[in-house]
Amino acid sequence: MKKWTSLLPLLFLFLWFSSSYAIDNCPKLTGQILTKNNTDYNQSRLDSNYYTSKNKFPDVIVYCKTAQDVQNAIQYARCKKLPVRARSGGHNHLSYSTGTGVVLIDVSRMKKIIVNKDKQIAVVEPGMTGGELYRRLYADGFTQAGGTCSGVGISGLILSGGMGPLARKQGMACDSLLSIDVVDAKGQLLHATKDNAYKDLFWASCGGGGNNFGIVTSIQLKVYPADKVTWFNLGWDWNQPVEQIISLWQTFFLNDDKRWYSHLDLWAKTFPAQKFHQQPIKVIGIFWGTPEEAKRELTPFLKLGHPVTQIIEAANWQKAILELEDAVKVYTTSKPEYKSSGAFVMQNFPPQAIHDLASRLNNATSPFLNVVFFSLGGATNEHATNDTAYFYRRAKSFAVYSTQWLKTADATKYIHEIDSLRVNLLPYTQGDYIGNQDSEIKDYLTAYYGNNVHQLRCIKRKYDPTNLFHFEQGIPPAPADWRC
Ligand SMILES: Cc1cc2nc3c(=O)[nH]c(=O)nc-3n(C[C@H](O)[C@H](O)[C@H](O)COP(=O)(O)OP(=O)(O)OC[C@H]3O[C@@H](n4cnc5c(N)ncnc54)[C@H](O)[C@@H]3O)c2cc1C
Repeated sequence: MKKWTSLLPLLFLFLWFSSSYAIDNCPKLTGQILTKNNTDYNQSRLDSNYYTSKNKFPDVIVYCKTAQDVQNAIQYARCKKLPVRARSGGHNHLSYSTGTGVVLIDVSRMKKIIVNKDKQIAVVEPGMTGGELYRRLYADGFTQAGGTCSGVGISGLILSGGMGPLARKQGMACDSLLSIDVVDAKGQLLHATKDNAYKDLFWASCGGGGNNFGIVTSIQLKVYPADKVTWFNLGWDWNQPVEQIISLWQTFFLNDDKRWYSHLDLWAKTFPAQKFHQQPIKVIGIFWGTPEEAKRELTPFLKLGHPVTQIIEAANWQKAILELEDAVKVYTTSKPEYKSSGAFVMQNFPPQAIHDLASRLNNATSPFLNVVFFSLGGATNEHATNDTAYFYRRAKSFAVYSTQWLKTADATKYIHEIDSLRVNLLPYTQGDYIGNQDSEIKDYLTAYYGNNVHQLRCIKRKYDPTNLFHFEQGIPPAPADWRC
C-alpha cells in the first residue's frame, strides 16, 4: 500500500504532462492573439455597447488577417471545445459578438477591397465598416446599399438584412449580395452564391443573422452610382403638434415612392436639445431630385407648426450620408450604456397608437428615450417573404426604440421604460429586426425570422450540426427527426 501511494506524485505529473501535451497538440492560432495577460486585452474585449460587454471576458481574442487565420481559429476552438464568437464592427447591441470563455474571432482588420467599375461590383473583406466602404466607393463614384452608422461592420449589417438610404431604390443591403465566402463549423472555406451547391447558405446569409452558420471572410456586392441628391432636415420643438407630425410622416413617406428616404426621429420631451444641437422632433432624409422640388413637396411639413430647423439643400452623396448620420447621432459618451429594441411597422399607426407613443415620449423619465422610424417599402418589398432569410418584406418601416443612461444606477428604470413602450406598441407592430436584438423577447426566433425559422434551423443543422456557433439568441440546429 505504501509503495503504491508513493507513486501518486508521479501519476499527477504524468496526468499534467499528458494534458499539456494535448493542449500543444491543438492547431495553432495565427493572426494577432490577445489573452488576459496582454495590455490591449481590456479594451479589445469590449463591444460598442459598454453596458452589455463590460462583464464579458473572452478566453482569447484572435485578430485575423486572412481566411486561413479564421480557419485555424475554428480548428483551435473545436480542439479546445471552446465556444466561438465572430466580430467585425462590434455594434451588436447585446454584445453577442463577445462573451466569457469564448474564442473571439475578430475580422475587423480584414479590410481589403477590389472594385470592378465596369461591372459595378465590389469584393470586400468582412472587417470594413459602413463608413469606410461609403468613402472608398465614393472615391470611384459609387456607393452601396448600406446603413446609416459609419461604425457598423458591413458583414454584421448584411447578415442582418441591412436597411439604409438605398433601401427603397435597391432593396435591403443583402439584396445586393452576389456571393459570400464563409468558414463553416468544420473550418472549411465555402463560396456561396445564389445558384451553386451552397445556395442555402447564401439564402441564410441574407438576414439569417451573424454567428449562426459560419464566419464570413469575403463579400461580393453590387455597387451603385453615387447620385447627387437633396438632403433635408426639418426639426421641431416639443411644444409643436407632435402627433400631427408623426401622422403626416407616415402618410407622406410610407408609400412606395422611391425618390424619398426618410427617418422620423423622436426624442423624449426632456431631451437636452441645446446641448446636443439637435431638435427633439425631426424629419430627415434624402430626396432624389432638386431642392426646389423637395421644398415644394415638403410644404405640408413646413406648414405644420413652426419647424425651427429647415434645411433642404443639394448635396453630393457623401455629404448626404454624413449629414444623415450626424442628425441621428445618439451616443452621449464614448463608453455608451444603452438598451435598444424595435419592431416592424406593417400598417400605418392609427391615431390611438400615435397618441400613446407621443404620450410616452412626453412623460418619459429618461431624457434619452428615443424612437426612430426607418422608412422601408419600395424595393425592399419586391420579394416574397421566403425569397431570403430576411422575412419582413411587407414592412412599411422599422421602429428603433432606444434609451441610454449616464449612471448605471438608472439602467433598470430606463430599461423597464423602453420595454413597456415596446410592449404597448405590440398591437400595431410585428417582430423585431435581427440587427436590433432584444434579450427581453422570449420567442426571438419567430420575432426575427417569422416563417423562415424552419428553413434556417435546417440550414443550421447542415452547416453547424453541433452548434459550435452558439450564443444566447442563436439559431439552434433542427432536431434529427425534422424533415428538412
Ligand atoms: C449605432 C448603430 C446604428 C445602426 N444602424 C443601422 C442601420 O442604419 N441599418 C441597419 O440595418 N442596421 C443598423 N444597426 C444594426 C446593425 O446592422 C447590426 O447590429 C449589425 O449586426 C452590427 O454589425 P457589426 O459587424 O458592427 O457588429 P458585430 O457585433 O461585430 O456583429 C454582429 C453579429 O454578427 C456576428 N458577426 C460579426 N462578424 C461576422 C462575420 N464576419 N461572420 C459571421 N458573423 C459575424 C457577430 O457574432 C454578432 O452576432 C445599427 C446598430 C448600431 C449599434
